[in-house]
Parts: sequence; C-alpha cells; structure tokens
Amino acid sequence: MSTYDERPWLARYDAGQPHDVAAEFPNALEMFQDSVRRHPDLPLIHYFDGTLTVREFDELTDAFACALLERGCSPGDRVALYLQNVPQFGIAMVGAWKAGCIAVSINPMNRHRELALLLADSGARVLVALRGLYESVGAAVLPDSPVELTITTSEHEYQTRSDPRALPDPIETVPTGTEDMAGLIAAHRGRRPPRVSPGPDDVAVLTYTSGTTGPPKGAMNTHGNIVFDARVWRDWIGVGADDVILGVAPMFHITGMVGHLALALLTPAPLVLTHRFEATAAVDAIREHRPTFTVGAITVFIALMNAPGASKDDFTSLRKIYSGGAPIPPSTVQAFEQQFGQRIHNVYGLTETSSATHAQPFHAESPVDELSGALSVGVPVYSTDVRIVGEDGADLPPGEEGELVISGPQVVPGYWNKLEETAHALPGGALHTGDVGYMDAAGWFYLVDRKKDQINAGGYKVWPREVEDVLYEHPAVREAAVVGVADPYRGETVKGYVSVRPGQRATPEELVAFCKERMAAYKYPREVEVLDELPKTTTGKLLRRELRAR
Ligand code: AMP
Repeated sequence: MSTYDERPWLARYDAGQPHDVAAEFPNALEMFQDSVRRHPDLPLIHYFDGTLTVREFDELTDAFACALLERGCSPGDRVALYLQNVPQFGIAMVGAWKAGCIAVSINPMNRHRELALLLADSGARVLVALRGLYESVGAAVLPDSPVELTITTSEHEYQTRSDPRALPDPIETVPTGTEDMAGLIAAHRGRRPPRVSPGPDDVAVLTYTSGTTGPPKGAMNTHGNIVFDARVWRDWIGVGADDVILGVAPMFHITGMVGHLALALLTPAPLVLTHRFEATAAVDAIREHRPTFTVGAITVFIALMNAPGASKDDFTSLRKIYSGGAPIPPSTVQAFEQQFGQRIHNVYGLTETSSATHAQPFHAESPVDELSGALSVGVPVYSTDVRIVGEDGADLPPGEEGELVISGPQVVPGYWNKLEETAHALPGGALHTGDVGYMDAAGWFYLVDRKKDQINAGGYKVWPREVEDVLYEHPAVREAAVVGVADPYRGETVKGYVSVRPGQRATPEELVAFCKERMAAYKYPREVEVLDELPKTTTGKLLRRELRAR
C-alpha cells in the first residue's frame, strides 16, 4: 500500500478542497496586485524606523521595472540579487518580475568563487548588490561574468526615511561603473511598466543549491510554485492581514523568500526586516512591532533564548512560531516554551519545494519518535503527495523507513539548464529528497537519516565536495575528506580531514584559514585534522562514514 493512498492526515487536517494553483492567481504579480487593490495603505515592510506601504512598494517596484526596461532588459533576462534582508530585496525581485525578468537569489555570505559560479550558471545580465558586498567581492568577480548592468544600494536606504520620494542619501558614494538603485527609482518614479502576465509555469526565481557533484544547481521556482506555497502559509498555517511577520530567515533562502516575502505580498501582512538576523536587533524589533508570526532555523530561537534582557513579555504576541531547515531538538522546544511561553512548531521543506511540504498544524502537538528522539516534521500540507520509498523504488507501508519522495504544486519543474540533474532528482516530476524517514499510523512524518552527504549546519547546507575542492586547491594537500560532526549550537558543523603531499607541511590552523578566505562563513571547516592516510576502501574510495565515526 502506498503511504500516499493511505493519507490518514487528510481527514483531520486537509480542508479537502482542490488547490488549483492558477485558480486564485496565475502568478506572483497578480497575487501582489490583489493586495494593492484591497489594502493599499497598509504597511508592507518595516525596516528599522522606516515603513513602506503596499502602495509605495507598488510604485517603487514599478519604477524599478521601468529602469530595468530602459536599460535594455528583456523578458526572461536574469536579475541577480546579492543582498541582505533589506527592503531592496523585495523591490528588486518584484521589479524584476514586473519587467518580465527572472530573479536569481544569491547568498550574501557567498565569496568570490561562489558568486562567480552563480552569475555564470544563471547567465545573469543584471546584478543588484549592497555596496559593501559589491566592493568586497562583486567588483573583482564582475569583469569575467555575464553581468552587463550593476546596480548598487545601501543598507541605510529606507531605514529612517518616512517619505520614500525623498532624494537618495547624499553622503553615499556610488561605486564607479555601477548605478545607484535609489537614483534609478527616483528617476522613474510615477511611471508604470507595460503589464506582463507570466503563467504559473514560468520561472520566477532561481534559488541555488549545491550537489554531491558538480557546480551549484539553480532550482527553478515558478510563479505557480511561489503562489501555492505562499497560500500554504496563509491558509494552512493561518497567517493573514492582521498578522505581523518577523523576518528572521534570510530572504535569499527559500524559507525567507516564500515564508516571509511572498506571504507578505499575498496577505498583505507587514514584514519586519532587520538587515540580517542578530538576536538583540530582533528583540528590539519584537518590542517595537509586536510580530505574531515567524519562521526560521532553530539556531535563531536558540540565539533568542540567549539574548540579553529578552523576556516572556516580549513574546506575548509571537504565537505562531515555526522552525524548519534543520532538526529541532524537542528539548529546545521545551526550553523555549518555558522561557517565553510560546511553542515552536516544526515545518519541513526544501529549496526545490519552494518551502513547506510538511508542517505541524498550528493547534496540534507534534509527537516525538521514541527511538531516535526526533520531533515529527508534521503532516503533508494540502495537495501534497508524499511517498516513502525503499531502495527498489517501491512504496513502503507506515512505520518503515525509506526516502521521502514528494509531488505537489510547490515542487520545482527542474534545475536551470541541467537536464541530467533534473532527471536524476525529479524523475517524472516527483522530488527525491535524499531525506530518509517514515510515516506513523496516524500520518505524522519523521526524519531519521539522510541519503545525501549534505551537512546541515544550523539550516545552512554544506556539501562536502565543495569544501574538499577548496582544500585541494592548497598546494600541500594530497587528499581531503569533509564530514559533518555534532555541534551543540549548529546541530552539525563542518570538519575536514587531509593528508599532505610528501615533503610538504600544512598546519590545521593554516588550512582552516585557507578555506575561510575562499568560502561563505557557514561552509569553512571549523576544524581540520591532518592524518597520514585517509581511510579508503580497497578500490580507493574515501570512507567518509569511517571518518564520521571517529
Ligand atoms: P534547503 O534546500 O536548504 O531548504 O534544505 C532542505 C533540507 O533541509 C531537507 O532536505 C532536510 O534535510 C533539511 N530540513 C528541512 N526542514 C527540516 C526539518 N524541519 N527538520 C529536519 N531537517 C529539515
């Protein structure tokens, strides 16, 4: 019997109606335009002391779209965003859509090598970057990239200004060779771009994930994917216009992009942004804006528990708290509830599923797997089919462990320009997640293992191969293997093992520093151990499992 056929959760949690993706809105622009019609004067984004209303955001995105078109952008062009959680992330993304373009989301922690790969793979013609990131990383990468137009912006923009019509901040200098985003918007303010109407299957954004082999892959999140999963957050979790969203997840990642930004565009509930997550700033924002909903990695909630001065009173409004992206220790849920009086709910999904596929219903208690101690990731959200399959690809009955294979309106159609990887991960359109788990008799799902080599460092995913590639760039390194090891804060962290070439020397500290310089901060190995020989099979394959067991 297929786990899907059984679907015991349906009777209890699914509203039962069909969720035709295109039925409500064919694309994410229509979804937002509906909010403009219904609630133009509601706040859409709070950023420190600045606020943008729905109408202002609409005007700013119109202006940005006009600027892109005037600078020669054509439908289908890729516009890369290299930004922190600043209002410009939303403005550039929606502006790109209004110009008929596809957004490309880039982790602001990425360094030269990573940025160069993503720009080349996506073929981005435009880059929108924070000035600091442009100066420290972007400028060196751009000459060898497909980017023709670079637009820079400042994290101070929209921070205090109550009137976004005001001229750009005069103390900011715009780096030579780049255009100022605020200046472009001011120059086009009041104009509307010609209307575009992408279909649900048109790509809205490329979100990058790495893989076991080869360069990063751009998951093609379509307009239909994004509208559907924004509606999951609204209808299934229950977030509406009277909620306030606290933006703790990075918007470059699918959780923040859909569970914060797209949800705000749909409802419209105001989204509170703080540039990047920092516990003290988040507590200040909680006191000021009294958010009611948030979703983020469990490390966010651990950091909040350790934020000086944070009290139960601060959290009285924040009732709808979800955490996903990494395993949640049940003891952390208990400690958080004890300290702040609020329950953390589990949500599960992947970049390739445009955020949630499973969640703990808001009013339900998630059971814990007695053997592994894992908190259930919840039950599938509506219109989502989840099968547990064995090594032979056959469906397994409740209680048996296998790989989660997911189909639904939130599953991407594939990876950008990567037919082989698409066929491998999404045969027949069903996503093979690489996560191993089971469904219990009541329909709750549990993750117990991973088929993939991925390391999950507090929700940030690291692929050993990428770190190993960088270690191999070091002249003294003969062999390198990277594994995940337990870490009390991040759940898992990155550890490297190397052997060195005859006659060469490299200290662990030197190797850590070497990697740190060359990759995003969450990826570099926190520890490197130098061994005479790395453990291998008789055929010479590195034995990661053995290293993990050390
Ligand atoms: P990403 O593509 O960064 O969203 O990562 C997706 C992966 O994160 C999944 O394949 C899981 O391995 C992991 N993950 C997501 N949500 C959870 C959760 N609630 N509990 C445990 N692991 C999770």
